[in-house]
Amino acid sequence: MGIIASTHYTSWEPLITDILSCTKCRLHLSRRKAVPGSGRRDTEILFIGEAPGATEDEMGLPFVGAAGKLLDSVLEEIGIRRNEIYITNVVKCRPPNNRQPERDEIEACSIYLESQILLIRPKIIVTLGAIAGEWVCRRMEIRWLGVTKMRGHIYRGKLLGLEVTFIPTYHPAAILRNRGNLEDLKRDLRTAIDELSRIKNVEKEKVTRPLSSKTLLDYINTTQSRKAETHST
Ligand code: URA
Ligand code: SF4
Repeated sequence: MGIIASTHYTSWEPLITDILSCTKCRLHLSRRKAVPGSGRRDTEILFIGEAPGATEDEMGLPFVGAAGKLLDSVLEEIGIRRNEIYITNVVKCRPPNNRQPERDEIEACSIYLESQILLIRPKIIVTLGAIAGEWVCRRMEIRWLGVTKMRGHIYRGKLLGLEVTFIPTYHPAAILRNRGNLEDLKRDLRTAIDELSRIKNVEKEKVTRPLSSKTLLDYINTTQSRKAETHST
């Protein structure tokens, strides 16, 4: 079976309805509320965590427990408001005792996250922790080398046919266990914002360039000097 399922949702309403009543994997047996995700559906930055915890399971909302509080404070400090981003998880139901989601549970649930990505079409994807990082890597055909090695780096490529920039970082729950990595989490999120403004500037330039007064001669000159550069290297 291919990684990309063929029947993605093309609108939000049936997607959310199906998540809320889903019984496709064993996690539905122990959940209280499924947690589809929350925030701006037209966001430019999508955040992906691992799975709902106890508070999320109770409230039906992502990142509202202790890890969520930490994430909120970091986002606020670097100037991102929660309602400007969309945030969700790889699996939508809480694994019992907060264990990691298992491979078959992730597979069963992936259609939902894939559909969310296709509907949102984010420019940037930030993954929080190993489960989400690995999930994105598989779909971008990047080898997952672990959070410690990959965090804060910028990966560009195609995800489900979309051009995306992927920036992995720590899971905020890991920061709660090891405060020493807090500055790295902040740095990685700043990297994501800087990258977003850079991408938007490039896009703006692309739009304005055809209107500039460059002559054909300017164009020929630049191509020739580029060629010269290529030959000299
Ligand atoms: N941890 C996660 O990965 N997701 C949540 O929603 C909450 C805690
Ligand atoms: Fe369905 Fe995903 Fe919940 Fe499993 S974790 S029951 S696949 S919504």
